[in-house]
Amino acid sequence: MTKILLVEDEPDMVLGLKDNFEFEGYEVLTAADGATGLERARTQKPDLVILDIMLPKLSGLEVCKMLRGEGFDKPIIMLTARGQEIDKVVGLELGADDYVTKPFSIRELLARVRAILRRTDGTKRKLSRYKFSDVELDFETYRAKKGGQALDMSPRELELLRYLIERKGETVSRERLLEDVWGYESYPSTRTVDTHIAKLRAKIGDSGSEPRYILTIHGVGYKFVDPDQRSE
Ligand code: CA
Repeated sequence: MTKILLVEDEPDMVLGLKDNFEFEGYEVLTAADGATGLERARTQKPDLVILDIMLPKLSGLEVCKMLRGEGFDKPIIMLTARGQEIDKVVGLELGADDYVTKPFSIRELLARVRAILRRTDGTKRKLSRYKFSDVELDFETYRAKKGGQALDMSPRELELLRYLIERKGETVSRERLLEDVWGYESYPSTRTVDTHIAKLRAKIGDSGSEPRYILTIHGVGYKFVDPDQRSE
């Protein structure tokens, strides 16, 4: 069953939406403030998040930014108040997929939810931003920073890093990296991967002999690990 997380602090709105979405066959989780919403998104793994912007504790914009920063890749629909055009722009920049302006009809919101779920069904949304340690990556603009300083990284290096981060904790073989990141029909040697990994490590401050982020799994390939999330 498709699981929707509704983060909204107005009880009447929550009740109305919950009833209607459940009637349409969705499972609905709710959270009445930003901090709880963030926690539920992390632990309950919803398929889609409906996120009000004006919320107690953490605003919807902050929740969206934090989730995307952690690699949360499910669709997010923002609820904005009429006249707050700036919130829509900021929301989309922070990684929201769509927004609906209050007051809206439940039918309209349901239609948006169905459209987004269709669009993203099966095809994993590509990670657009990621942060670990003091490294900040923006895969859409191909910009990277370490300790606030711009890093000179090629699109290929960033794509390689994105691919590993999207599969963090999972060992990815050199062959699969060549197929999916390079995409050549006649593959360059797997040493190409090793050369790129070595360059990547040097740029993000990782060590070749005792790596902390991009681990070498001998005889198999590589695995990205985010040390800040290791305990999870
Ligand atoms: Ca609100």
